[in-house]
Amino acid sequence: MQSTSTETEQRALEQVVQQFRAALPPNMVITDPQQLRTYECDGLASHRVVPAAVVLPETAEQVRDVVRICAEHEVPFVARGSGTGLSGGALPHSSGVLVVTAKMRRILEIDLANERAVVEPGVINLDVTRAVEDRGYYFAPDPSSQQVCSVGGNVAENSGGAHCLKYGFTTNHILALEVVTPDGEVVELGGPARETAGYDLLGAFIGSEGTLGVVTKITVRLLRKPESVQTLLAGFPSTDEAGAAVSAIIADGVTPAAIEMMDALAIEAAEQAVHCGYPEGAGAVLVVELDGPAAEVEHTFAEVERHCGAHGAFEIRVAADDHERAMIWKGRKSAFAAVGRISPDYIVQDGVIPRTALPEVLGRIARLSAESGVRVANVFHAGDGNLHPLVLFDDSEPGANERAEQVSGAILDLCIEHGGSITGEHGVGADKVKYMGRMFTADDLDTMQRVRCAFDPAGICNPGKVFPTPRLCGEVPGPRRGVHPLTEAGLADQF
Ligand SMILES: Cc1cc2nc3c(=O)[nH]c(=O)nc-3n(C[C@H](O)[C@H](O)[C@H](O)COP(=O)(O)OP(=O)(O)OC[C@H]3O[C@@H](n4cnc5c(N)ncnc54)[C@H](O)[C@@H]3O)c2cc1C
Repeated sequence: MQSTSTETEQRALEQVVQQFRAALPPNMVITDPQQLRTYECDGLASHRVVPAAVVLPETAEQVRDVVRICAEHEVPFVARGSGTGLSGGALPHSSGVLVVTAKMRRILEIDLANERAVVEPGVINLDVTRAVEDRGYYFAPDPSSQQVCSVGGNVAENSGGAHCLKYGFTTNHILALEVVTPDGEVVELGGPARETAGYDLLGAFIGSEGTLGVVTKITVRLLRKPESVQTLLAGFPSTDEAGAAVSAIIADGVTPAAIEMMDALAIEAAEQAVHCGYPEGAGAVLVVELDGPAAEVEHTFAEVERHCGAHGAFEIRVAADDHERAMIWKGRKSAFAAVGRISPDYIVQDGVIPRTALPEVLGRIARLSAESGVRVANVFHAGDGNLHPLVLFDDSEPGANERAEQVSGAILDLCIEHGGSITGEHGVGADKVKYMGRMFTADDLDTMQRVRCAFDPAGICNPGKVFPTPRLCGEVPGPRRGVHPLTEAGLADQF
């Protein structure tokens, strides 16, 4: 009698776990069902899958051994850093292994003369800055989760933060990676210098959401702390005026380090949670931060104040010192969690639109909300058009989740319609797989999958993430019939 695929998977898993136990020190392999449940989701708790096994390697060699064993038995694996991802990217595979880098937290080298550091993937984002700040340096990518998220996760998601308007995303701050490829080979991508010859495989890897291999070492760029920082909080009657002020500031040639916007509902939530004391009656607030040489900051700051005033700001507060700056940021940084105070459940959406479309799209979101009866709070990186609508609902009400999902999807449609994207920084993961077909054609998706297949022909590295239908590199064939147009044109081979 032939064995079923589930029996085959089970046998492969047993062999894999046996080999892990032989290759790794004790306590690095978890198979106890209760302990496995700790890892069943990342920051997107609406998706849950219990992995078959978890490994907690401490060195790159151990990661390599784990991946080689998985590859030998074609057992899927998923890398996980701190598990703060918001798109289910680190969602485990039920018949697979979760490779957790939380024990790989060493800063291996600090080289200030060349403004770089080498870190293990589990190092917490803020710990990089903490290690060098007394010498006047910092690591620029600053996701709001920076106190807990890992640099490995930042690389995989190409994470951004409030200050990526001026400083760019994680990809702009990584010089080199050591990666274990899905067949267990250890490769170096990039190099210690800013530019390397050949294809930009480093660029291809950053933002690949754990689908091309496991990062084991990261060379990050360090920046000098700016001479001067100025922060302002401006209260506006509505998001229309605030959005117009954002466009005017940028059109004037000013590039603030950050421009963040919160609407009335987001302000209400933040007030309840942290009593941030934002301007009373504001329909929207802007937090604008400028940094750089003192003379330049002083000049451009006056311009920013002028634009805010000209576009209806009824109150402008300037932080006099670090304490007041922290108070201004406190409301913004607490906003996601604060929304839990005004709604039992919510979806954190992440989409991008051209900055100039802000007033139009925010107006359409407000209409969607009014028509559906689903409340939406907006808090976002206004400078680069990266929206984070928080779609509020109460899961105990029948159909509320579905209505919220519908509004959430309709917001992404608005982003696409305005020439934007279905994700700005949280990634596609498991959550937005269903939206990829709205943004890309089947041929686009196939072409992207070819890159994935080149790294992972067996399809074992974080399968089921990013792409809706695996059709290439020998995976389950989807709806495509006939030869792929690129193959037909002699431009690409089928793996
Ligand atoms: C309150 C809150 C605020 C947030 N704010 C922001 C924000 O401002 N900006 C932003 O961009 N994101 C934000 N995020 C999302 C999240 O923190 C980032 O995506 C972060 O980079 C994830 O890091 P992590 O270590 O938690 O990764 P995980 O969640 O563990 O994993 C994320 C992805 O990275 C992959 N991965 C992890 N480690 C490795 C590795 N070593 N090799 C290969 N792949 C790997 C995983 O497979 C998964 O696909 C926020 C999240 C929360 C909960």
